[in-house]
Amino acid sequence: MTFKNLVDLHTHTDNSFDGNHSTMFLCETAYMKGLRAVAFTDHLEMDAFFKGSFDKTAIHSFFEIAKARSAFEGRLLVCIGAELGQAVYNKEISEKLISTMKYDIIIGSIHNLPNVQDFYYMDFNDENIDYHSLLDSYFEWELKLAQWNGFDTLAHLTYPLRYIVGNYGKSVDMSRYSEIIDEILLTLIRNGKSLELNTAGLRQPIGITSPDESILRRYKDLGGSMLTIGSDAHYAEHLGAGIDKGYELALKCGFDSITIYQNRTPTLIPIE
Ligand SMILES: [Zn+2]
Ligand SMILES: [Zn+2]
Repeated sequence: MTFKNLVDLHTHTDNSFDGNHSTMFLCETAYMKGLRAVAFTDHLEMDAFFKGSFDKTAIHSFFEIAKARSAFEGRLLVCIGAELGQAVYNKEISEKLISTMKYDIIIGSIHNLPNVQDFYYMDFNDENIDYHSLLDSYFEWELKLAQWNGFDTLAHLTYPLRYIVGNYGKSVDMSRYSEIIDEILLTLIRNGKSLELNTAGLRQPIGITSPDESILRRYKDLGGSMLTIGSDAHYAEHLGAGIDKGYELALKCGFDSITIYQNRTPTLIPIE
């Protein structure tokens, strides 16, 4: 299927430590690819905010996006975003940041457990690593993040599976987490927040979105209607990647619109 309202609300510029292309170049690429809207959401890892110089990153990223937004006015809707990693480990600074900067969209995510390395760097072949119990605490923190409620959309809910299942081929019994996942989804719904459909997994070994179809269906069954979508692109060539597949999946699960944010206010646009 081809869609006319393609948007990508989770992307990284070279103001992210793992980003590769400038904001302007990414805007040009997004426009050429026919995207209607793009949000740049550079990493701000809140558990290392000053140590990792994310205070400086936040300023650079914000102003480059603001500049790009005016340069592309009328051609491409550019939203100023940030991906707040581990905000619940440092609520005070997180709240201060989001109240001082006029973001369009805040993405909430968790990449690591407290004082532990990112799941990305873990060796899941190590027999001392009990990934089922790591996932227990991961989802507990996701619930705390949802309850904190300082973001607009909850990013890649099943992030560790990218590595545990995708890269290491381990099998995870997700029924162990269904109760807490329900609680996370219900918290989002009660708070009027969005769930993110992250399409990065479609181009990675895991081969599926985060969350996957079963969780999307559950979200819908529980009354969820607000869904954002993002490629999690770290390269220009990945801008918009998998968004069409994501739209197809959303439609299949009963969603007829996708949510975008300006000034931290949601607007639902039809998937068509
Ligand atoms: Zn992330
Ligand atoms: Zn990201």
